[in-house]
Amino acid sequence: MTDDCLFCRIVAGEIPATVVHETDDTLAFRDIGPKAPVHVLVIPKAHHQDIAALAAADPALAGRVLASCAAVAEKEGLTGDGYRVIFNTGGFGGQEVFHVHGHVVGGRPLGPMLSI
Ligand code: 5GP
Ligand code: ZN
Repeated sequence: MTDDCLFCRIVAGEIPATVVHETDDTLAFRDIGPKAPVHVLVIPKAHHQDIAALAAADPALAGRVLASCAAVAEKEGLTGDGYRVIFNTGGFGGQEVFHVHGHVVGGRPLGPMLSI
């Protein structure tokens, strides 16, 4: 738990979120500003800054975060049409919340991978 981290505060129940999937050490909840019909954020409950830090510190947990992304896609009905999982990382990556999270987005064609 990091006191000034938004997503740690969601894990702690201090800030409300619409949870769609939970395991012992991961949490998935709807993005507050959805960019697609389905837009869910998947996080480890433990604080790690980004996907590189998580993979270095606890690769097994990184694997469970990916498994939770897949479980969310299944629960949200995305597996037939397909979907995207995005881990924005660092400044150029557009990361705004520095608690690693995968965006699971889908429910419509998502277009090219990047808009420049
Ligand atoms: P990033 O830009 O770091 O990859 O993504 C951060 C995401 O967190 C954004 O898509 C943003 O809409 C979402 N977000 C920011 N604040 C909150 C919040 O308080 N609750 C939820 N559920 N999502 C949030
Ligand atoms: Zn955190």
